[in-house]
Amino acid sequence: AKKKGDNIACFFTESMNEEVSRKTLLEIGLQQAHESGELTLYYQPQVNTNTGEVIGMEALLRWEHSELGRISPAEFIPLAEESKLIIPIGEWVLKEACKQFREWLDEGYELGHVAVNISSVQFQNRELPEVIGKILEETQLPPEYVELEITESVVQNTKEAIPIMKELKQMGVKLSLDDFGTGYSSLKYLKDFPLDTLKIDKSFIQTVHESEKDQAVIDTIIKMGNRLALNVIAEGVETSGQLDYLKERQCLYYQGFLFSKPISKEDVQRLLFKGRVS
Ligand code: C2E
Ligand code: CA
Ligand code: CA
Ligand code: CA
Repeated sequence: AKKKGDNIACFFTESMNEEVSRKTLLEIGLQQAHESGELTLYYQPQVNTNTGEVIGMEALLRWEHSELGRISPAEFIPLAEESKLIIPIGEWVLKEACKQFREWLDEGYELGHVAVNISSVQFQNRELPEVIGKILEETQLPPEYVELEITESVVQNTKEAIPIMKELKQMGVKLSLDDFGTGYSSLKYLKDFPLDTLKIDKSFIQTVHESEKDQAVIDTIIKMGNRLALNVIAEGVETSGQLDYLKERQCLYYQGFLFSKPISKEDVQRLLFKGRVS
């Protein structure tokens, strides 16, 4: 028999239910996803604006859910962070990326570094340097082939973050500040962090031809990055007009659909290795 009040509960949870159940479904699914091989890494080339040479590849997670199809990392990474599953998943990403680059090196393919995204949750884990050290040892990938991409949110707690960053640098891995320009106190971070690379957020690139104000901002970021001897990478470059602009302003590297979307490891081999003389 129905209890009094059931109807009321139904009334205001009906529309919420759909969202809740998708979220729950994804959370449960994530737990098994990497064991059952539903998680894979795609790779997007990072390219020299002047020469077109590939200087590295960013590893990006892809999840093919058995029932829901492809889920965007923008949707599932926050869930993985909430449940702390990002720790084992992030470890898997690091290991998979390092293994793949070792394999490509062994086969004679030189693709520069592999850039791996590190979530703030992973970064708060004091064991991160140790975990990375172990993976480098296991895969026998030299540390200079690894660039860790962190965002300003990763390092909000600068007192704790800077020693970890220094430890990572001492191991020989590179550090990149992702989504630059979208967080707070960016200038302070630039000065205090032991960085190698600065990635200009794609929102700035996409408006480069809209106004002189947008250009002033990009120009300043590039100049500042160059002055601080950082590698400056522009993200989200989709048009040759945007690329020309960046070249003209001495932004040395870019990443974006113009050169390539993120692609599977098989496509990396098909597309990037084809011209190789063996
Ligand atoms: P992100 O690190 O800023 O990665 C760049 C995003 O921009 C990627 O989206 C990429 O596919 C997309 N992108 C690249 N070129 C273009 C372009 O020319 N135009 C446009 N419109 N977009 C472009 P994706 O792969 O969907 O990843 C979204 C976010 O998910 C990433 O943003 C990153 O924050 C997170 N993510 C992905 N993989 C991982 C991972 O392994 N670990 C962690 N912690 N986060 C990850
Ligand atoms: Ca990134
Ligand atoms: Ca980014
Ligand atoms: Ca981002």
